[in-house]
Amino acid sequence: MATAASLAVPAWCPTSGDRHGVHWADGSISERDPGRPTIELPRGAFAVPGLIDGHLHLILGGLGLEMLDLGSCTSRAEVECLVRARHATLGPDRWLIAQGWNEDRWGGEQPTAAWFDGLDGRPVVAWRMDHHACVVSTSVLSRLDLSSTPEGGEIVRDAGGTPTGLLREAAAWHIAKPEIPAPSMDVRRMALDAAVRHLHALGVTGVGSMEYGLDLEHVIAPRRHDLPLRMAVTLLDRDWPLDVTPGVIFEGTDRLWVVGYKSFIDGTLGSRTARMHEPYADEPSTSGLWTELAADGLLREWAEHVLANGLSPSMHAIGDAALTAALDALERDERRAGRIEHAQTARPEDIARCAGRIVSMQPLHKADDAPNAPSRLGASRMERFFRFRDFASAGARLVFGSDWPIVTCCPIAGMRAAITGIDRNGAVVAPDQSLTPIEALHAYTIEAAKALRFPGGCGTLQAGAPADITVLDRDPRTADWVHAPPRVLMTIIGGEIVHRAT
Ligand SMILES: [Zn+2]
Repeated sequence: MATAASLAVPAWCPTSGDRHGVHWADGSISERDPGRPTIELPRGAFAVPGLIDGHLHLILGGLGLEMLDLGSCTSRAEVECLVRARHATLGPDRWLIAQGWNEDRWGGEQPTAAWFDGLDGRPVVAWRMDHHACVVSTSVLSRLDLSSTPEGGEIVRDAGGTPTGLLREAAAWHIAKPEIPAPSMDVRRMALDAAVRHLHALGVTGVGSMEYGLDLEHVIAPRRHDLPLRMAVTLLDRDWPLDVTPGVIFEGTDRLWVVGYKSFIDGTLGSRTARMHEPYADEPSTSGLWTELAADGLLREWAEHVLANGLSPSMHAIGDAALTAALDALERDERRAGRIEHAQTARPEDIARCAGRIVSMQPLHKADDAPNAPSRLGASRMERFFRFRDFASAGARLVFGSDWPIVTCCPIAGMRAAITGIDRNGAVVAPDQSLTPIEALHAYTIEAAKALRFPGGCGTLQAGAPADITVLDRDPRTADWVHAPPRVLMTIIGGEIVHRAT
């Protein structure tokens, strides 16, 4: 590890603006000292504070690096082809786990168990790209207890009433998921390391990660002194009453700490389970779902319990009605510690209520959801879709992230989506809501650091701050974000170079 070094490149910091070179000693940014070793980088290289992904699922993402990725498929034939190819590589008793499919890429046909016929009865489960639905093979379907549908879920059936293999929301999580063999603790530990390496290569120095207490205790917490990444954990455990037990998991370090708890208010726009104030334009029989504590009317009590324990309640709210419910639940959160996750649709009056509040959004979700949003929402309600600019103007504290493995955790790709408004088909959507490069950088650095309670100085390049630095190949403020966005040359965490582009 470099105890003292300098980067001989121009740099930018959200608190002190332009700089010339970044210097550090013993893991912290320090004043210039000509006696220190200097790291020379190519002409044009440019340093910014280490990029922070404000919302991802680290262990799930690491496990997903091993899963079959169906994200590129644009037809049933392509799905079947990739699945058959993976099947041929697996031992006889192994499950085939896939993720990433999106029916909007092939005209909307819902996948069924029949897509996985002819694989020698191999158990197959394929998660939709949002992980809010899955389709299973006939061999898996026959093992499931489908006698009743869990609250907030759906077992999709054909005209004759026979389950098709597609399960949505709580039905996917509570009926199918428990049947899937859980990866062992050793596999999960390897997933942690694989995820961290993946993030280093993308220039990420810190994350806000959604994790279960069991993974925190057995996989992540043992690494709290030497984790090669800064990680603010939000716990997904949501039994009620919530048992916030002080213990080993709350003894944070400057690498790992618990910042709060997560609760789901609704589902997703793609699955028409995000809770809207008015019905879906393309399925007027539904306005989406209330899920979990929101369905039980316990959201406010839960949020206040988390706040009373000094932690941050984080609420998944994609529909405009879910955002209203989240804001209602935070009415007594005077310190503005609560976090609203996603906020993909919002009424103007609710945007105004977000002044001073942490609104954690994922620009690549806009890029992914934009093509089908007009059919879900109808033209007039597109005025409520991904209001980056309106939230910023209202004084909301915007934090950006990816929700990996739902989408890539590449912060440059996220920034590009926020700055250009370009969706996954290349169309520019609501350019009046796009942000400047500096605003996007704020959301990926200092605002993320503050919202997730990173160690003091993180998200800046000020003297005394931890030496978390991302080096790009060009100045992000003047780059052509449409055609030639910056590339990551180097990632530095606590003064240690953890990635260098080859
Ligand atoms: Zn998430």
